[in-house]
Amino acid sequence: NATVLNADNNKVEVTFKDVAGLAEAKEEIMEFVQYLKKPEKYKELGAKIPKGALMHGPPGTGKTLLAKATAGEAGVPFLTMSGSDFMEMFVGVGPSRVRDLFAQARSMAPCIIFLDEIDAIGRKRGRGGFVGGNDERENTLNQLLVEMDGFASNSGVVVLAGTNRADVLDPALLRPGRFDRQIVIDPPDISGRREIFQVHLGRIRVADPPGKEEVAKRMSARTPGFAGADIANVCNEAALIAARTKKDAVEPEDFEAAIDRVIGGLEKKNLVMS
Ligand code: ATP
Repeated sequence: NATVLNADNNKVEVTFKDVAGLAEAKEEIMEFVQYLKKPEKYKELGAKIPKGALMHGPPGTGKTLLAKATAGEAGVPFLTMSGSDFMEMFVGVGPSRVRDLFAQARSMAPCIIFLDEIDAIGRKRGRGGFVGGNDERENTLNQLLVEMDGFASNSGVVVLAGTNRADVLDPALLRPGRFDRQIVIDPPDISGRREIFQVHLGRIRVADPPGKEEVAKRMSARTPGFAGADIANVCNEAALIAARTKKDAVEPEDFEAAIDRVIGGLEKKNLVMS
């Protein structure tokens, strides 16, 4: 079953202000926000809105966050499923989950579907591989293509997808009328990291002096290669460290210790992966 994140009150709380940096991506995705807010306007003009956009970029850079914020900005429901959720050991489950997801979306339109890790189902087809094992995945992908082709471009459903492996995707997914927009989500540079720190320091009580601005500036210089998810992690770890030592505000040294800890974690992850 698709997760409807905002089932409570049909409102997504996340908006663009929660997404630091990514100015170009936000601008590109704004077209969908405007459409979802006023679909009639587009219909009247006879404009066909793209059905979907593929967001690609490294892990933890804010693809899911941006998709959710798009729903928040437009004030529409957000339905999300991960590519791996479609993969089950039982034959036929993947395609039927795709069908259910789109049926649910049509009944809730205007709304956004977000398919995380689309590469799990969207890999290039017909490359041999394991006989049998791949059929289910191919059937799931085919069902996704059928669903994307099956709804009119002005039906009020926008399909966003996220991947960090755009290179392995089946070209059929990228044809016109499917994911015909591509949005690149770059890893943050130093000023991007500074903005992300500012967002995540928002709810943290930082010692002043030096204050949030100064901590964001200093720590952004200390974290090359960190994605937004790593920075969120640093801010939370720093608060935990300060809590453990019974401080009443988080100090720069706590952030330094948190950075070391997160770097340690990243190194371990890379060791496991390589
Ligand atoms: P994956 O490829 O692993 O699915 P993703 O690109 O979808 O990752 P998110 O799940 O959106 O990444 O990011 C994880 C968390 O990291 C977010 O919930 C948020 O707390 C933080 N984060 C990432 N990027 C940003 C950003 N640009 N601004 C603010 N917070 C961010």
